[in-house]
Parts: sequence; structure tokens; C-alpha cells
Amino acid sequence: MSTAGICPEWDLIIKDEWRGVWIFVETFDGEVNEASLQLLNPGRMIADKIKAKLVGVMLGHNIRHLVREPIYYGADEVIYVDDPALSTYTPEVYAETLISLVRKYKPEIILAAGTLRGREMIPYVANILRAGITADCTDFDVDVNTRDLIMIRPPFGATLLAHIRAPERRPQLSTVRPNVFKLPSRDVSRRGELIEEKVDVPPPRIKLISSEEVKVEEVPIEKAEIIVSGGRGLGSPEGFKLLEKLAELVGGVVAGSRKAVDAGWIPHERQVGQTGKSVKASLYIAVGISGAAQHLFGIREAGIVVAINNDPEAPIFENADYGIVADYREAVPALIEEITNRRSR
Ligand SMILES: Cc1cc2nc3c(=O)[nH]c(=O)nc-3n(C[C@H](O)[C@H](O)[C@H](O)COP(=O)(O)OP(=O)(O)OC[C@H]3O[C@@H](n4cnc5c(N)ncnc54)[C@H](O)[C@@H]3O)c2cc1C
Repeated sequence: MSTAGICPEWDLIIKDEWRGVWIFVETFDGEVNEASLQLLNPGRMIADKIKAKLVGVMLGHNIRHLVREPIYYGADEVIYVDDPALSTYTPEVYAETLISLVRKYKPEIILAAGTLRGREMIPYVANILRAGITADCTDFDVDVNTRDLIMIRPPFGATLLAHIRAPERRPQLSTVRPNVFKLPSRDVSRRGELIEEKVDVPPPRIKLISSEEVKVEEVPIEKAEIIVSGGRGLGSPEGFKLLEKLAELVGGVVAGSRKAVDAGWIPHERQVGQTGKSVKASLYIAVGISGAAQHLFGIREAGIVVAINNDPEAPIFENADYGIVADYREAVPALIEEITNRRSR
């Protein structure tokens, strides 16, 4: 049996040798990923509690002009590798490069955004290092005595929160979906150390033959300012046509609950909630959505929530700023008419 990549010395973890909180900061198309920078928010809290350094870690090619960004958002220092071999993302190559840095610096905690890349390469890192990983955390705490990260997330289907530790292993890894935490404020006067590392980046075992950009016409829901969201209460895909009209009128996009996705009325990339996306729209209009905990999780960072539901007891009303108790087939056309009339006055 091949033991390549397995790290037997990891069975002899001396926890005191492991120090520091790392945020893996992704770059893409010459920009720093905002979801990664959001993690400097919980990262700062954790680092302060255990009196550790908060470090941004960046991999890529031609990224030198970006490496100060994590510092502006709160990191104490940035370790980065800028290498042509990292110009194309391949999970194995990125993961192995990060592993080399981990073996050198021994950080006790690594947080990464639950983006497509993060969800792919961070479990790879955890597996090779035989370290504990918890995906989709919604909050963190830390035990200041043991320095164990307490990774908090909703367990399957429950309204409770699970508190998870990986006490025997270092590093402790965790991913967080975009928009769970707010972006810290940017301060370009902040200073911090920049450390460029040279790593023997392993050659990829796969070859990219071609890549094609998929044109997405609509604004992704995680970036939308106004969202009109529909649930099972719409009763049919036709209900979404009505929501599209309203969304177009108010300059918003359409999203939905998991039940609406399961029914095939709206694609999964437009699902809001625990197993969908977290949104931070300033206006969220929930139509025919009951307000289950897993759905509400996705609108924690939303601004004003308006609920339209024909059941006055629906839990969504407890979480809404404005509520309309009505059949949506009456309420939505009435809203469309009112907005249209006011604009033509
Ligand atoms: C592990 C797990 C993860 C999950 N992740 C997610 C997630 O990411 N996102 C998510 O949304 N759910 C998620 N769920 C499912 C969640 O628990 C709920 O089942 C789901 O959110 C309910 O969707 P809904 O509100 O559209 O449907 P329902 O709960 O069926 O609610 C429909 C609502 O429409 C109202 N209604 C009916 N007719 C009308 C009408 N004519 N006019 C106005 N209102 C009407 C009803 O009063 C009702 O309140 C998850 C569940 C589990 C177990």
C-alpha cells in the first residue's frame, strides 16, 4: 500500500508547537475573494482570545499587488506563494502547496471560505494531515485553556446548534459559507508583515485542455440587493412568473426555499438557507415561505424582511419587519399594480 502523502509524524502531535490562526484567502481573476476576507472577522475574535497571530495565507500567480488586502481587513501578517505553477487552480496542487506551508509554520487553526475551491481543497488538506475538519460552520468560540476551536454549526435538520471540537489534532480546520460573517471594515493605514514563501509546487496530475466562461445573465443571489423569494406556498412554477414580474419592477432577483427547489420550480443555485446560500440583500420579500430555521439561517444578514403568507401563524412573521397576511395571488398583483401606478404618477 502506498503511503505517499500520509504523514506519520502527525500521530505525534505536540499541541504546544502549533500556534496561530490562519485564514486561507482565495484570489480569483485578479481579485481577492470577499468570502475569504469575511473570515478575518471570526479569525480576529479567536486570535485575540488565545493571544495568537491572525495570518492571511494566499496562493496564486501575479498576486503580489493583492497581498496587502488581508492586512487592510485585520490580519497581522500575510504568508503568500506567487508562482506560475499556481496560475491555474487545481485542487491537488493548491492543497499540496498549502500543506507545505502548514508543515513549516504549524498553525493551530485554519479557516477557509466554503466556496467551490474551499469545499474541494480544504478537505483534501485535512485528509492528508489527518486533521479534524468541520464544514459549514456558522459561528466559533475557542477554549482558552486547551486552545481547542469550538466549531459551531446546525446539525442535520435540527434547530439546535452542535458545538464540535477536534481536541487531539492540529491544525483544526473549518469552512464557512459566504456571507455568514460580515466583512470587517477596510483600513488602508493598517500595517503588517508580508512573507513571501518559495515552495516546490508539485506538478499537476491533470491537464487543463480548455476552459470556457459560463455567462450568467442574472446577478447571483448572494450579491443581490433586492430578492423576491418564493416557497412551496406558490403551489406551482407559474407562481414564480409572478415573482419575476415583481422582481423586475423593483430591480431585484428571484430566489426560493428548498421546497421550491425540490419541486423543480427554481434552480439550486438560487436556494436560500442552510444548504443553499446566505444572502445579504437590503430587501428580502418572502412569498409563500413558512420560515423554517434552515431557511431563516440564510437571511440572517438580510436587511428588511417582508413576508407574504396566508397563514397568520407562519413563523416567518416573527422574523419579518413587515407582514402581509394574504393569498399571494392577490397580494403580489396588488403590489405590482401599486408600484406601477405610483411610478406613472
Ligand atoms: C438538513 C436540512 C437542511 C435544509 N436546508 C434548507 C435550506 O437551505 N433552505 C430552505 O429553505 N429549507 C431548508 N430545509 C427545509 C426546511 O426545513 C423547510 O422544509 C423548508 O424551508 C420549507 O419550505 P417552504 O417554506 O417553501 O414550504 P412550507 O414549509 O411548506 O411553507 C409553505 C408556506 O406557504 C404558505 N402558503 C400556502 N399557500 C399560500 C398562498 N396561496 N399564499 C401565501 N402563502 C401561502 C403556507 O402557509 C406556508 O407557511 C432544510 C431541511 C433540512 C432537514
